[in-house]
Amino acid sequence: MAQQRPSFPARLDFSSGKPGAPGKILPVSGASPAPSKPKPQAAHATQGLGMDSAAVRARMVRHLAASGIASAAVLQAMGTVERHRFVDSALVNQAYEDTSLPIGLGQTISKPNVVARMSELLLGAELARTGSLARVLEIGTGCGYQAAVLSLLAREVYSIERLRGLHDKARENLRHFRLPNVHLLFGDGMLGYAKGAPYAGIIAAAGGAAVPQAWTDQLAIGGRLVAPMVSGTGQQALVVIDRTAQGLKQQVLEAVHFVPLKSGIA
Ligand code: SAH
Repeated sequence: MAQQRPSFPARLDFSSGKPGAPGKILPVSGASPAPSKPKPQAAHATQGLGMDSAAVRARMVRHLAASGIASAAVLQAMGTVERHRFVDSALVNQAYEDTSLPIGLGQTISKPNVVARMSELLLGAELARTGSLARVLEIGTGCGYQAAVLSLLAREVYSIERLRGLHDKARENLRHFRLPNVHLLFGDGMLGYAKGAPYAGIIAAAGGAAVPQAWTDQLAIGGRLVAPMVSGTGQQALVVIDRTAQGLKQQVLEAVHFVPLKSGIA
């Protein structure tokens, strides 16, 4: 199980976020070079929360556990990543509520429960059970929150976004965390990202009428894809596809509400 991995990186104390602390200042892969002077933290990151953010996150984690999230690794990751750093200053007080929030350009950051649920499903992949999640592809970086959570659960995270404005925003948001294993890509995620394939896990934060074949093609044997998909009735549901040596196995799970998967870049 992932939580037994001795090198689980959640020991990194994201919550203190002190620039210059040893072991925390690593370049965000694919981002512009780290500034030589530590970047002052955004005012909204430390103000307006009304209480210590670690305590609010711990409460969120208790709610996640009570709602059925069982993976210790996922709960630890959710308790580690500061969600309030990914939302607008006006929304900081809602950052640890179980709600989706607008992130600009008509898109939303998913509810913590959905992020945790999808992460947990991803960790259920055969490849994760037999070792750990090596490479993961995320379609729909948005503000970068899910990518930060995944960075604690997988060795390498490739995250692709089709909207330039959000790709840039995610890069800005993630710079603070200095996650060397997160690779942000700008492009049409419907094509996947062949250069990083095969993936132990693929996770999509946007749903279409079908899962693009590029995604299943880029999945490793033993790998798992977790994505929202619109069914015949027009309802969106979470779909899990396992790639086995015998072929693809699909499960349709609970109803979800994700933004639409769109082709092309903008
Ligand atoms: N995981 C994100 C959720 C973002 S919402 C977070 O933690 O914030 C889903 C995102 O998917 C949107 O930003 C949307 O622009 C993006 N998206 C939709 N279709 C896409 C595509 N074909 N390729 C890449 N990103 C896509």
